[in-house]
Amino acid sequence: MVGLAGEWLTAAANTNMFTYEIAPVFIIMEGILIKKMHELVGWRELDADGIFSPGGTISNLYSVLVARYKFFPIVKTKGMAALPKIVLFTSEHSHYSFQKASAVLGIGIENVIAVKCDERGKMMPSDLEEKIMAEKKKGHVPFYVSATAGTTVYGAFDPFDKIADICEKHGLWMHVDAAWGGGLLLSKKHRTKLSGIERANSVTWNPHKMMGVPLQCSAILFREKGLLQACNELCANYLFQPDKQYDVSYDTGDKTIQCGRHVDVFKLWLMWKAKGSIGFENQINRCLENAEYLYEKLILRDNFELVFVDKPEHTNVCFWYIPPCLKGMPRDEEWNTRLHKVAVKIKAQMMEEGTIMVNYQPMKEKPNFFRMVFCNPASRKSDIDFLLSEIERLGSYLEF
Ligand SMILES: *Cc1c(COP(=O)(O)O)cnc(C)c1O
Repeated sequence: MVGLAGEWLTAAANTNMFTYEIAPVFIIMEGILIKKMHELVGWRELDADGIFSPGGTISNLYSVLVARYKFFPIVKTKGMAALPKIVLFTSEHSHYSFQKASAVLGIGIENVIAVKCDERGKMMPSDLEEKIMAEKKKGHVPFYVSATAGTTVYGAFDPFDKIADICEKHGLWMHVDAAWGGGLLLSKKHRTKLSGIERANSVTWNPHKMMGVPLQCSAILFREKGLLQACNELCANYLFQPDKQYDVSYDTGDKTIQCGRHVDVFKLWLMWKAKGSIGFENQINRCLENAEYLYEKLILRDNFELVFVDKPEHTNVCFWYIPPCLKGMPRDEEWNTRLHKVAVKIKAQMMEEGTIMVNYQPMKEKPNFFRMVFCNPASRKSDIDFLLSEIERLGSYLEF
């Protein structure tokens, strides 16, 4: 990396950060960081492959696209009509982007099979295997499983080793969607939660989440080099002339499904240079400490209840506020219906007053609950105390 500083200044000055034949200096930065992220995932392959894409949704789409190409290269020219009925698997707590990808790629939303999760939101390997067998029995062709490192709502980490065993046994592509949880790979204290991720064929990792990089910044990483290029290249001869009089390995433009693309790596590269891996580690550890602090406060207060009782694995803390009018009431259907409205009304009031902002959602039969996530290292314990007292204040004068 030494010696690049001057070059990137020149390159930054000479481009509008939007480029077709992307300036070599950015490709070097991209290569360096993709390799770094590979190492953190734990892959031992020397040739790192991957690309920065416009968000985790698109990174996940790339993983399905490349996995399908690996097993059925004919799809590139002949389309889905040349394929058997292919199916993929992901947990019921996984991100909705897999359904989007399947709709976009012509696989169909119905062919995304939802695998059951346990109480904590982790994929159940036994159900995965049963569902694979059931699909095979119907004559369908399983090809891909996505496990999640840090589910969006609960912040759960799937059991990667067990899922990898099943993928190996059935010859399936294993993807890990670490859009949200990938940052924990930088923390010696927390990276064990992702153990087994190194057995994946592809990984999505969004630095624009836990690492605090401004939107958008997402990487899709592949263990096998060359697939991404083979899958997407069209060799448009007005851009990617093979007889260029310099090193054409800089022409990564044909790996993408785009033509022009934004230089998302630049800000990550700068942040990594400024903070170092240690800097990221410290800020990620601090976010997890904040989540633990909120969790401990919630246990102590009897007008709050946790959605799951064990310590948060990620920075997601899910909880209900129980207003005085619902305290000590029988927990029947009516209670649930009233509790369902609590978060909605408090949220509306929060937005009105502009003092705090926290998300809410239901989950299956569970009524709406608040979901606090920490990814801003500037949050302090006093902010967390304020969050709780503010929910109490707003909740105490509203009717439910
Ligand atoms: C946020 C998230 C995504 C989508 O990422 P975007 O960058 O918003 O498209 C995918 N998977 C998980 C688990 C996420 O939390």
